Amino acid sequence: MADLHTFRKETRRWLEANAPASMRTPPANPDQICWGGRKTRYPDDVRRWLAVMAERGWTAPTWPREYGGGGLAKGEAKVLAEEMAKLRLRPPLTGFGLAMIGPLLLQEGSEELKREHLPPIVRGEIRWCQGYSEPGSGSDLASLQTRAVRDGDVFVVNGQKVWTSYGDKSDWMFLLVRTDFAAAKHSGISFLLMDLETPGVSVRPIMLISGSSPFCETFLADVRVPVRNVVGRVNGGWVLAKALLGHERTMIADAFKERDDAKRLVALARRYLGEDGGRVADARARDRIAQLEMDQACLDLTLARARDGAKAGHKPGPESSIFKLYGTELNQRRRELMVEILGPQALGWEGPGFSEEELKLTRDWLRSRGNSIEGGTSEVQLNIIAKRVLGLPD
Ligand SMILES: Cc1cc2nc3c(=O)[nH]c(=O)nc-3n(C[C@H](O)[C@H](O)[C@H](O)COP(=O)(O)OP(=O)(O)OC[C@H]3O[C@@H](n4cnc5c(N)ncnc54)[C@H](O)[C@@H]3O)c2cc1C
Repeated sequence: MADLHTFRKETRRWLEANAPASMRTPPANPDQICWGGRKTRYPDDVRRWLAVMAERGWTAPTWPREYGGGGLAKGEAKVLAEEMAKLRLRPPLTGFGLAMIGPLLLQEGSEELKREHLPPIVRGEIRWCQGYSEPGSGSDLASLQTRAVRDGDVFVVNGQKVWTSYGDKSDWMFLLVRTDFAAAKHSGISFLLMDLETPGVSVRPIMLISGSSPFCETFLADVRVPVRNVVGRVNGGWVLAKALLGHERTMIADAFKERDDAKRLVALARRYLGEDGGRVADARARDRIAQLEMDQACLDLTLARARDGAKAGHKPGPESSIFKLYGTELNQRRRELMVEILGPQALGWEGPGFSEEELKLTRDWLRSRGNSIEGGTSEVQLNIIAKRVLGLPD
C-alpha cells in the first residue's frame, strides 16, 4: 500500500508536469482523438501527449516492458487510470492495435510477431484495421471466401472485405482468409497480418447515413503476404478470430461507459425542456434519465469487474457478448432520448437554424444505429448468450 501511495504521488506529479493543458478537456471533434498511424497528422498537443505517454509505455500500461508497454501491475494501472480521470486527461491513444490485435498477439502471437508489432502499436506508429466481414459473410463469418494460396514462403491472397472501419486511414490489417478449401468451414481459416501498402490492395470508402465515411471496401488482388505473418497455426485461425471478437466486444461496450454523458443529458433536458425548482421540468424525462443512468451504472460496474478479471489473466469469454449487447443498446437509448429532448432542433442536417452541437447530436444518433450491428449483431449476441453463457439447447 505504501508503494502504491508513493506511486500515486509520483504519477500525479509526472502527469501534471507532462500533460499539455489542452489534453485536460474532451476532444472538440473526432479529428482530435488520437488513433496514431502514418496517414493522419494530429494537432501538436495531441502528438506531444502521445509521445510522452508512449515513452513510458503508458499508452499500454499493463503490457510487458519488453514489448514497449508500461509493465505496470494491476494496482498501479488502476492508480494511473484514477489519476488521469481526476485530471480529466484524455487517453493518449486509442484504436484496434491497443484494443484488439495487441491483446491477441500477447496471448497467442509468436515471439517474432510480438517483437515486430507490439512496440509500434504502443508508440502509435501503426494503425490497424479489421478485415473480417465480406459481402456474403457477416453474421455467418466462417463462410468467408477470401482465398490464400501458398506459394513458397508467401500466401497469395484474393478476395474482398467489406465494412473495414477506417481502412483508408490504417497501415496494417488483420484479416481472416481461407487456406484449406476442402476442410469444414471453421477448420480451413487462417489469421493473417497484412501491410496495406502491399501491391494488390485497394481500399474504397463507403458513405454512411450519418454523412461520414468511416468504413471501406477492401479489394485484394494477388496480394503476396509472407507465411510468417500467420498468427497461430495455418488453418487454426477460427479460434483466434473468436478470441479477438471477445476483445472487440468488450472494447465496444467500454466505449459507452459513463463519461460526462449523465451531466450532459441533464443539462440538455434543462435547456430544452425547462426547469422547475432547479429540476428538469418534465417529470417523464426525469424518470427516463434516472432509469438510463441507473442502467449505465450497472454496466460500468460490471465492466470494471471484467477489467479487473482481465488484468488478473482471465481471457474474455462469451460473456463479452452480454457487455456488447447491453452497452450498445444502452447507447442507442441514450442517443434516442437526446434527440427526443431536442425536439424539432434535432431535425437539422446542415445550414442555419441549428447549432453545431444540435447537428452533431443528430449525426451521433444516426451513427448509433450501427452499434447493434458492428462487432456482431444483437441477434447474434443473443444466440451466443443463449447457447454459450446460459447453456440453452439449440
Ligand atoms: C459501424 C460498423 C463498423 C464495422 N466495422 C467492421 C470492421 O472494421 N471490420 C469488419 O470486418 N466488419 C465490420 N463491420 C461489419 C459487421 O461485423 C457486420 O455488419 C455484422 O457482423 C453483420 O453482418 P452483415 O452486415 O453481413 O449482416 P447479416 O449477417 O446478413 O445479418 C442480417 C440480419 O440477419 C440477422 N441474423 C443473421 N444471422 C442470424 C442468426 N443466426 N440468428 C438470428 N438473426 C440472424 C442479423 O442479426 C441481422 O439483423 C462493421 C459494421 C458496422 C455497422
